[in-house]
Amino acid sequence: MARPRLARPVVRILLALALVASGLVFASVANQAAADGCYTWGRTLSQGASGDDVRQLQIRVAGWPGFGGHLAIDGQYGPATAAAVQRFQSAYGLGADGVAGPQTFSKIYELQDDDCTPIHFAYSEMDDGCGGSGFDGGPLSESATRFNALKTMWQLEALRHALGDRALNISSAFRSTSCNSAVGGASNSQHLYGNAADLTGTPTFCTLAQRARYHGFGGIFGPGYPGHDDHTHVDIRTSNVWSAPNCGIGSAAALTDIEPDI
Ligand code: ZN
Repeated sequence: MARPRLARPVVRILLALALVASGLVFASVANQAAADGCYTWGRTLSQGASGDDVRQLQIRVAGWPGFGGHLAIDGQYGPATAAAVQRFQSAYGLGADGVAGPQTFSKIYELQDDDCTPIHFAYSEMDDGCGGSGFDGGPLSESATRFNALKTMWQLEALRHALGDRALNISSAFRSTSCNSAVGGASNSQHLYGNAADLTGTPTFCTLAQRARYHGFGGIFGPGYPGHDDHTHVDIRTSNVWSAPNCGIGSAAALTDIEPDI
């Protein structure tokens, strides 16, 4: 008995569906590959977790520690990490439960380049401030300096987002020892370690200084601090030394400030 043949339009529809399905599979593989370009998390993380995947997460949410806070990059998912994840989630419109699952990781994949820098910043903006390139010539190893620059960029990405996704201009970041001497930098400048960025352009220097306090920056120097009327310096030291007198910022700023809306 002859097998009943499918009517030609049905065959066409089935073929079309098969093409769509294979396209979806392909797209999904492509997305996975994009995530893999830097780092891919393999499990949901919440309080009590520990490991390198927690540490990788902490690097990326360190810009969300709350006013005057500093998130330890220690691989231990404690309350401070949960709070930072929650602020990150809230800032990007995700369900804010402080648990890092697929939605949180997808957002991070969107925000990072294959070299693990956040999408709006690059190592080339952070390297030798005297016109050279690279992260050598400072007191730390090149890899340690480069890692500090990476952490700085993730905090800058948070600041940038909090300012309404406004582009930030870095006029000077890492400086080799000779570069730092040439520009008259302090002998223990955070610029030597890859921890610092000088910001110019918009928004105002005072706005940059004020908002940086919410995004993990321990060193903040702006208008009114000697030599800082034409930029705002931010760095990721973990004790707060803030001075921008013309912006109403001193080291003893009240620790109860609420970050204003954009
Ligand atoms: Zn500086």
